[in-house]
Amino acid sequence: AKDEGKGQFHLYSDDIGEALEQRYRLESGLKQAIVANEFYLVFQPQVDLKTGEVIGFEALLRWLHDDELIPPGVFIEVAEETRLIETIGHWVLDRAIQEVKPWLIGDRVIAVNISPKQLQRSDFVRSVQIAIEQHGIKPTSLELEITETALLTDFENSAQKLAALQEMGVKIAIDDFGTGYSSLGRLKDLHVDKLKIDRSFVVSSDARNTNQKIIQATLSLAENLGLRVIAEGVETQEQVEMLQQMHCHQMQGYYFAKPVPAAEISGLDCFAEKQ
Ligand code: C2E
Ligand code: CA
Ligand code: CA
Ligand code: CA
Repeated sequence: AKDEGKGQFHLYSDDIGEALEQRYRLESGLKQAIVANEFYLVFQPQVDLKTGEVIGFEALLRWLHDDELIPPGVFIEVAEETRLIETIGHWVLDRAIQEVKPWLIGDRVIAVNISPKQLQRSDFVRSVQIAIEQHGIKPTSLELEITETALLTDFENSAQKLAALQEMGVKIAIDDFGTGYSSLGRLKDLHVDKLKIDRSFVVSSDARNTNQKIIQATLSLAENLGLRVIAEGVETQEQVEMLQQMHCHQMQGYYFAKPVPAAEISGLDCFAEKQ
């Protein structure tokens, strides 16, 4: 079946040919990326809006390929389509815990993004448990960020896994909250701890537009369900003040810190001031 398509390339315009070729290069590059040591992680602090304290870090994957930093927006999609994300995602989980472990004091968490493909694997819960045990962290120090859409793909199965993870003590955050189309009614059937308000609602949010109402609605929903709320993509003082006025619990964004390699965490302003 592999050869079948080859001759057809000539039927396409050069641009499509180029796109296919680039896609193929991405795919074969991704296959080698772990072994070739081309992946690394950066970490972005998450902050308590009342106290200003760092309450966690989100791990974000970076791919340096042929001297080019390829954005996750480009390669994660290819990794998901090819299921390479299952291997890559596991590498991220393991490495993120390992690198941030020295910073996991008190209630601080390391938040790791989990792709739907990872969550769907039957051995997912077990692999999380193994990672926790191998690194000897508290299960409550790990938070998994799962998008709304990922949960809707296979609701019953996902719900069951989240329950098992929460039973272990692992925290669950719903990422990009508000951008999917999840029925709010189903949220109460899910074992989650936190809602993560998508950046798009934070960026263009002032008193006159609906985005602020969406944030407000998310906060009151969370209050009713006993969940925490974190706002992502916070860039300005105005946004911080708005979120504080609305009694949002946590925030993350360039205003506070950009994502940095673990070795640079101690140099971040937020730590320099306090310690
Ligand atoms: P996300 O999970 O919503 O991550 C937040 C993105 O917003 C990150 O982009 C982060 O660098 C960026 N960001 C943080 N603060 C600000 C801000 O104040 N302003 C702006 N403009 N952007 C901000 P990044 O690192 O490019 O990641 C993009 C997406 O790629 C992530 O969105 C996530 O969906 C995916 N991703 C990244 N790492 C992983 C991973 O290890 N596994 C999986 N499955 N997906 C990942
Ligand atoms: Ca995330
Ligand atoms: Ca997000
Ligand atoms: Ca987002």
